Parts: sequence; structure tokens; C-alpha cells
Amino acid sequence: MRTEYEPVIGLEIHVQLSTRTKMFCGCELSFGDEPNTHTCAVCLGLPGALPVVNERAIHFGLMIGLAFGCDIAERSEFHRKNYFYPDLPKGYQISQYDQPLCRGGEVGDVRIHRVHLEEDAAKLNHLGESGRIHGSGRSWVDFNRGGTPLVEIVTEPDIRSPEHAREWLTLLRTTLRVLGVSDVNMAEGSLRCDANVSVRPVGSTELGTKTELKNLNSFRFLERGLRAEIRRQIDLLQAGEPVVQETLHYDPRSDRLTPLRSKEEAHDYRYFPEPDLVPVLATEEMIAAARAAIPELPADRAARFERELGLSAERARLLAFRSELGDYYERAVAADGEDPVGLANWIPQLVERIGPDANPAESSVAPESLATLAAMVAAKEVSRDAAREVLTLLVREGGDPRTIVEREGLGALSGEGDGLAEIVQRAIESDPAAAAQVRSGNRKALGPLVGYVMRETKGRADGGEVTRLILERLGPS
Ligand code: ADP
Ligand code: ZN
Ligand code: MG
Repeated sequence: MRTEYEPVIGLEIHVQLSTRTKMFCGCELSFGDEPNTHTCAVCLGLPGALPVVNERAIHFGLMIGLAFGCDIAERSEFHRKNYFYPDLPKGYQISQYDQPLCRGGEVGDVRIHRVHLEEDAAKLNHLGESGRIHGSGRSWVDFNRGGTPLVEIVTEPDIRSPEHAREWLTLLRTTLRVLGVSDVNMAEGSLRCDANVSVRPVGSTELGTKTELKNLNSFRFLERGLRAEIRRQIDLLQAGEPVVQETLHYDPRSDRLTPLRSKEEAHDYRYFPEPDLVPVLATEEMIAAARAAIPELPADRAARFERELGLSAERARLLAFRSELGDYYERAVAADGEDPVGLANWIPQLVERIGPDANPAESSVAPESLATLAAMVAAKEVSRDAAREVLTLLVREGGDPRTIVEREGLGALSGEGDGLAEIVQRAIESDPAAAAQVRSGNRKALGPLVGYVMRETKGRADGGEVTRLILERLGPS
């Protein structure tokens, strides 16, 4: 019998904090500015320069830890992590080691291992053959990024599929965004994610040998990279070969993974306490201030959507885990709160039309218009099918749903006027077999009759109304 395998995934996420200044100096953060215009003796690592901790970064770190329900260390330390690379002018990165700011906690269904503070490295810009200005094969260092405050979040290996990883990272990003601690933009690198992954036979509780995937700089690549690596590991094990613990680079173009470095040649970072910084003492005042700064979090918002608006857990998560969807939805509910559940059903319809990553607030469909459309469906002024068409038009050209319904003649056909009764009669006459079955109580036979009417009316009739009219004629009275 073939062994079934299950993936085990843990993520390491680096988040650039949106403080005004860098982690250990007064240089301003400056994404996108002219290279090397925001530097000083400290962030260039000049001899004798002394770092000073950014209090705002500690505050943000505490907010994150408290939002995740972590244990906050009363006293945490900075360490030097030593290694050589051209983007690291001091020859070490100031990070946290055995005394991180936060431990434990959870976000959604994934436990957090630790959260610590550190500084970002400078940015290396590689110019290849195509580098227009500087010829081939050179690298340039932009020290503007060097020293940017980072929070590193390490999860426990609680994630069980690539889709789960993607959904969870969405929740994490939204949580950080509503906390207001980061831009959390993967394309710009303010949110960066490495994925550790192993597979094991289903039912086993031991962990398999893991690999670490780098360069997953979008939600799509995270999911695709994991899928490719899980496939590769299962193929190896099924061929009786071992998985080697190593770091892999995912190339989205070829969908292939190539080794970066194996664990044997891994660095010995020679961590030691940073002698130029005092320990961070998280006082009760600091913790109280951080707690007071935490707004409603996505998980709480989802719970509120369930509790107060009656949404299903799944629908509530879908809306709350992406704040732009949740915000849009709440604006629509504010415009017409008659039927929040019915209204929520229209958000996925809208997302389908504007694209999975687009912000509905930036689409041409105003939340008030969506609310109006949903209300018109609820009042049977327009059928569900016709309303879908109206939504497509709203996405394309904006405007008011009532105007579009009128202009396109998409208003619902009613039983009295509009000839709907006649069409129902024709449906019954055209399919006597189905009619007979309905008459004898078989409601399944309604399908072809309703389908006939829908075809004839091009979807403008209301399904419930059509069913009612058919039963009125055929139903057991
Ligand atoms: P390392 O010492 O290699 O950095 P850690 O124990 O610090 O490994 O874990 C780093 C990340 O890898 C964490 O997110 C953790 O959840 C995850 N992880 C650890 N072991 C495994 C495993 N066997 N399979 C998948 N993920 C793992
Ligand atoms: Zn500086
Ligand atoms: Mg680690």
C-alpha cells in the first residue's frame, strides 16, 4: 500500500516596522528614495558610533506581542549576530537571541513560537547584463534600508497545507495592518516570509526533515513554492531517498527549487550580548500603553460579524481577514443594514469581478450601490441572475443599480403583469411528464419547468416566484 503523506509547515516572517526613524539611529526610513541619502555613522557601522534603541519600535513590538497573546519578557536583550556580507557594514546584525521580547501566543489557529526585534540589512541591487547604466555583473549597496526596525515572527509548525499557509499569512498581514505597525507590503519587502516545510506519513506525530524556502515574495509564490517542494519531498521519500535539510531558492518561472546552502556549511553566528545597548525593560506603563493602542483585531472582527450580523464563520473570516473587504462590507451594511447576511453574499461576487487582490473601495462600485442591489434582490425587484449582470455593469461603468436595471430592462418579471404567468403555462404544456411528476408530489421535477421559464425570460424571473406559480397550478391543493 502506498503511504499517504501530510505536509508540516512553519513560517518565519520579517516585518519592517513603520516607525519614522531607524532601529538604532535617527535616520529616517525612506523606501524608494535616492540610494544612500539616509545614512549616518551608526547605520554605516563606522567605528565608535553608538546605537540607541528606538522606543517606538519597542512600543510596536509590544503591541504585536500583546495582540498575539504572547508572554512579554520583562527584560529582554539584544545580541550581535556575526556574519560577513556586503549588506552588513558592521559585520554583525543587532538582533535578539535567547531573550526575545515575546514568546508563545497564537494568531488564529497557528501558535507563535517567538517574536523578536532586530535591524534590517542594507539593500543589494544587482545589475546584470541588462543593467543599462553600469554594465554587467555589478552589485550596488543602498544603505538607506540598513538599520530599518524589523520584527521577526516565528510560528510553531502548525500549518498543514499551502492554502492554509496563504490564508494564515493573510490573517497575519491584516492583523499587523490594523495594528498600524507596518505597511506589510510583500512586493516592496516590508513583509517577507520564509517557509519551513517537511512531510510525514499521515498519522505520524514525529516531524520529518525540513527544508527552508526563500524568495517567496508574494502570496501566490508562497503557495506555489510550497506545493512544488511538498511534491519534491514526497517523490524523494517514495523513491526511498532521504530529504536533505537545506535552504532552497524558489524560482517561480520554472517552478523549481535550487539549493542555496546546506546546514553543514551553515554559519556559526557567534551570538554574544550587544555591549553597547542596555537590556529592554518592559515596564507596566509601556505594556499598558501598548495594550491601549490595540484596535479591534481581525479575529475579533470575524467573531463580531458572526455574533452581531449572523454571518457564517467562514464568511465572517473571509471578510474580516482582509480588512479592505471588511471595511467595504461595513460601509455597505451602514448604507442598508436590513439583510447583512444577504449583503455579505455579494462581496465574493464583487471580488470575482474585480480580481482577487483588488481593493473594492477602489473599484467603481460604491458600497452604497452594492447595498442597493442586494436590497433590490431581497425585495424581488430584480432576480439574482439579472443582479449578477447588473453587478458586472457596475464594475465596468459604475453608476446606480436602479438606473442600470431600468436602462437594460433587467427588472424582475412578476406574476401579474409581464406575461410571466403565460410563460409558466407554456412550460407546463411543453413538458407534461415533468408536470405530472410535480403533480404527484415530486418536487425534483420542478427543475426542468423552472429552467424553461428562466431560459425564456433570460433569467429575469425570480426563481422563488416561478416555483410558486408552478405549484399554484400543479401543486397538491
Ligand atoms: P532552525 O533551528 O533550523 O532555525 P527552528 O526550530 O528555529 O529551526 O524552526 C524554524 C521554523 O521552522 C519554525 O517556524 C518552525 O515552526 C519550523 N519547523 C521546525 N521544524 C520543522 C519541521 N520538521 N517541519 C516543518 N517546519 C518546521
Ligand atoms: Zn543612521
Ligand atoms: Mg530559526
